[in-house]
Amino acid sequence: MIDHVLLERAAIRGGGTTDVLIAGGRVAALGADAAADPRAATADRLDLAGYLLLPAAAEPHAHLDKALLARRAPNPSGDLDGAVTAIRSAYATMDEADVRSRATEALHTALAHGYTAVRSHADVGEGIGVRSVRALADLRENAAGLVDLQIVALTAAPVAGAAGRHNRRLLAEAIELGADVVGGAPALDPNPHAAVRTLAEAADEAGLPLDLHLDETTDPDMLTLRRFADEVARRGLHGRATASHCVSLGQQDPATCREVSRALADAGIAVVTLPQTNLYLQGRAEPTRTPRGLTAVAALRAAGVVVAGGGDNWRDPFNPLGRIDPFETASLLVAAAHLPVADAWESVTAHARAALGLPPVAPAVGSPADLLAIRAADLDEAVAAASEDRIVLRGGRVVARTRVIRDIVPALEGQLT
Ligand SMILES: [Zn+2]
Repeated sequence: MIDHVLLERAAIRGGGTTDVLIAGGRVAALGADAAADPRAATADRLDLAGYLLLPAAAEPHAHLDKALLARRAPNPSGDLDGAVTAIRSAYATMDEADVRSRATEALHTALAHGYTAVRSHADVGEGIGVRSVRALADLRENAAGLVDLQIVALTAAPVAGAAGRHNRRLLAEAIELGADVVGGAPALDPNPHAAVRTLAEAADEAGLPLDLHLDETTDPDMLTLRRFADEVARRGLHGRATASHCVSLGQQDPATCREVSRALADAGIAVVTLPQTNLYLQGRAEPTRTPRGLTAVAALRAAGVVVAGGGDNWRDPFNPLGRIDPFETASLLVAAAHLPVADAWESVTAHARAALGLPPVAPAVGSPADLLAIRAADLDEAVAAASEDRIVLRGGRVVARTRVIRDIVPALEGQLT
């Protein structure tokens, strides 16, 4: 079996085209070196003329267990409370086979769109038990070699004190079943600070990373990030802790924003911003001067925090939209967080992989050949147009290819010439 591939005439960032030789799952040579390498003579060839070659993307925050539930679990109020109520009422219909089937469909779309790593939260608690973790653990095994799937046990509130005993037991069961990361949503807890401490302690004891839904509200008085940074620093979880959402940080005054951002950077905490779901759910109580439901992306980046961009909910009660597409998330970060296109793309690639504890990938010698080719001349066009015409490589092997055929009716073509 030939394990080397020559990608020909691919456009690369910065301009120009190049050949890329892949051997043993890694980028072995670029440009003239690739064509001149003796392995090129026997390599499989893939002509990428017209395609831009990029690193494969990583999704740092999904909810595969809830994906594609929008019709079954409507959320008439459109806010976070309505979404939580809707999903709980759908739990009875979410058996293991159902979760696995929707999650698989979403993961296929993710792979075809260029994701080779996905971190998914899975609800753990009353009404759902640990069956979503079980379903995703199955999927993780089936997807091995295509997509690295990380499972976060999203522990229901309450988790602290005597009232949290049952949910803590379910979290332990989820860890036993193979959950990769400890998660939870302390803002939903009667005592958010105690919930942060309890979940950090559980991660510490299990030797697992921690990824919490934090401060998912535009209420500036809810700010658990300082406590989170303290817990992470105290327990030495540097580089293994993620704060997802952090919406209320975007509602602080600039000095507070800078101070908290610095504390997160010092504690080695990555932040995941989730533009589509936050813009959809947040700010509904204020029809004018509506607060933008995003974290303080610019301040966090300026402080040196890894800021990854994610899709969060994909067509469920929390968000009826979502193409499961890194270019959609990047595009939203350009429009809603005012990031330059290159920084927005970094948030769904290098920063997303860093948040997941994965090494970077790139069309560069020595890198694992997890690559995404998209029909576009440059990154601006790729993010703006998000062509479906894509080829996804995992370890140098083509694992998904989408072709697009466009016909313009001849009469119209005549009018245009
Ligand atoms: Zn989430």
